[in-house]
This record gives sequence, structure tokens and C-alpha cells, in this order.
Amino acid sequence: VDDVAPVLPVVGGSTLVPLVDGRQVPYANLDVAASAPALVAVAERVERVLPLYASVHRGAGYLSQVSTALYEQARRTVGRLVDARDDDLTIITRNTTDSLNLLAGCVPADPATGEPGRVLVLDVEHHANLLPWQRDTEATVLTGARSVAATLDELRTELEDAARSGAPYALVAVTGASNVTGEALPVGAVVEAAHAVGARVALDGAQLVPHRRFSLARSGVDYVAFSGHKTYAPYGAGALVGRRDWLDAGTPYLAGGGAVRRVRVTDTSWHEGPARHEAGSPNVIGAVAIAAAADALGALDPGVLQRHEATLRARLVTGLEAIERVRVVRAWDDAVDPVGVVTFTVVGYDPGLVATYLSAEHGIGVRDGRFCAHPLLGRLGFDAGAVRASVGVGTPGSDVERLLAAVRALVADGPQARYDVVDGLWVV
Ligand code: PMP
Repeated sequence: VDDVAPVLPVVGGSTLVPLVDGRQVPYANLDVAASAPALVAVAERVERVLPLYASVHRGAGYLSQVSTALYEQARRTVGRLVDARDDDLTIITRNTTDSLNLLAGCVPADPATGEPGRVLVLDVEHHANLLPWQRDTEATVLTGARSVAATLDELRTELEDAARSGAPYALVAVTGASNVTGEALPVGAVVEAAHAVGARVALDGAQLVPHRRFSLARSGVDYVAFSGHKTYAPYGAGALVGRRDWLDAGTPYLAGGGAVRRVRVTDTSWHEGPARHEAGSPNVIGAVAIAAAADALGALDPGVLQRHEATLRARLVTGLEAIERVRVVRAWDDAVDPVGVVTFTVVGYDPGLVATYLSAEHGIGVRDGRFCAHPLLGRLGFDAGAVRASVGVGTPGSDVERLLAAVRALVADGPQARYDVVDGLWVV
């Protein structure tokens, strides 16, 4: 059955990949959460601007002026993708990890004690939204409860207790959608709880921004971080968007050319605004690519995007749970509107073997492991890892059907070949 067509065309959809039996089949890319294939519209825009680029912010030549204009226009479009407020900054970074590291260096110290600012996170987070806080701030990691309501209660209690005890949190950093389960806390409730005690909210939007219409202005979220390569653009560029005061006061993320107003051998005065954190020659093509993706995603009816992924995800969950010995991973029992990420195990098979089997015998790309979310996998009892299938705007329903049929065949008949994995490639 292929009654679900892709919502937008992506490149690479007809790529053939080899199977162990010598056949070639179209690649079923069910690893969109790791890196999403570029939209055709993005590839076309990149091809158009590639001949035009020259030094950004650093040249008087015509192409330098064009590149600078393209870069600054892309910045505005990237800000619009997350509905930035007028006075928010949009900083072009390398990816979500880069964005969150940048922000971690800008959390102000506690004004009363001079100690590093306190940051509250949950154990459901990707390491990118855990380790920067652990390293650069005073971080507390809450172990989530099995329901959204109970987790929100714990979050509120922790925030209120800390405020009452005179050591308030400066920031709550949460995922917009888990890269393991697709689930999230309702962002409005997190913002309300944080703002009630004077804390800000940073959202790890890596899995949310490409898959839902997200608005900084309407949600009240203070900062959002996301990656171009998960937003249907190529690698190398991402963004941090949010309130300018912390960013303007923070230590420049990179020290170097472009971030400075004046340099003397004895002292330096730094720019404010995005330039403060963007030293070095910027990735103009990367920024333009995200902007092209933003234009294409922004032109979609958000309901179409949501329904497409919800339909495919529901098929995945229902289909997988109907297979004997398959267990679907859930962080919460009552999460609402998860994005198109489903993680599962097949009892009796190592997750690495399941992923290798899906690739080698069926041409299906998934991810296995612990998904840079060790605390969550550990708490849920999946220390040995799991298998993740994820979908996006370019995923047809037939890819989901192929995965379900392949897992059914594995449970019924076992793998048909023996695998050794050499340098990451299967060999029989
Ligand atoms: N957060 C989440 C929820 C993610 O899924 C990822 C990527 N797996 C990241 C952060 C890190 O993104 P990047 O590797 O692009 O920095």
C-alpha cells in the first residue's frame, strides 16, 4: 500500500542500494531524524548561489556585496522560520550542538553569589542539550516520571523550591521533541512554570523545528537551537535564535575576525549582535540552504506537515506493536503529538544486528544504538540500545510498509544471511 505520498520532493529518493543477494533496490531512508535529505528546492537554490559567493562582510567587490546581502537575507529568513520576535538575535552556527554550547557560555552568573547560573534539564535530553550545561553552568538533571503531568509537576516543584531557597534557576533547557521517542513536554506549560520563577526557557529544536510550525513569539520560549542538516538542508549550518541581552553580554563564542569593533595589542572591544559570536568567515551557502528550506516549509500548510508525519508515525507504532517480540520505547505514557520518530527493539536480536539486517536484506536505512541519550535509554531499561526509524516530509508510506514487512520477516524467519560488520559495512 502506498497511499501516503511525500509532501515535498527531496533529493536522493530514487538512489539504488545493493543487497546481500546481489539485487539493487531503492533506498528507504528511515533515518531522517539523524540527517534529513535536502529538499529539491534547497538543492536548486544552492546550485544557483554557488557561483555567486565571495567573501562575506569583508569585500567591496560586487560578488562580496551579493554574498553579504544573501547571508543577511538568509539570517532574516531563518529567524522567520521560528517566528523570532523583532528584537531577537539570529546567530548562524554550525548545528544544534554548536548553538547550545554558545548559549551555555552566555548564561549569566547568579547576581547574588557570582556562581555560574543554574540550569534545569531533564534526563530525556540528547547529550547536546545536557553536556554544555554540565560543563559551563551549574546544572541539575531531573529524572522524568512516566507521565507528562507528573514530570511537569516535578519540574514546577524543583523550580519553586530553588526560587524559595534563594538559588533560583536562570534557565530551563528542554527538548522540543525527543530524538529517541519523538515525544515532548507541552512547551507552553514549561514556559509558564519557568517564567513564573523568573527563569528562561531554551528549546532544543533539532527534532521539532523541521517537523512542526514553531513560534518563539507565540510560545514565549526564549531561545531555540536547531540544525540545517535535519531541516532538509546540507551539513554545516544551524542557528541559535532568541533574546539578545544574554547574547550581547556573553563572552564571544569564537574569538577572531568579524566579531570585533576595534583591536589593539592591549585590549579588544567586541561587537554586539550576531557578529559577536560569528567570528571567522561565515557559511553563506549553509545559511542560504536553511533559508531555502525555511521558504519551502513555510509555504506548506502546517496541518499538512503534521498530518503526514502523524499518519506515518501511527502506522509505524501500530504496525510494530502488532509484531510479536517487538517493543516500542516510550518516555511518557501520555505524550501528545510526537514527531515522526519511533524507537523499538526486537526481543532476542541485538539492535545492531536488526539495523544491519534491515540494510543488507531490505535496503532500509535506520539507526541503532543509544542515540546520544544514554541517561534516557538507561532509565527506560535499554542500556543495550535500540533501533530507531524516523520519517519526514519526503517519506512515502511505502517506506514504512517496507520496514514493517522486513521486521515481520525477521521475527518469523530470522535473518537470511550471516553478517560481519567491517569498517561499518556489512559483509556476508
Ligand atoms: N538535539 C537533538 C534532539 C538531536 O536529535 C540532535 C541530533 N541527533 C542534536 C541535538 C544534535 O544535533 P547536531 O548533531 O546537528 O548538532
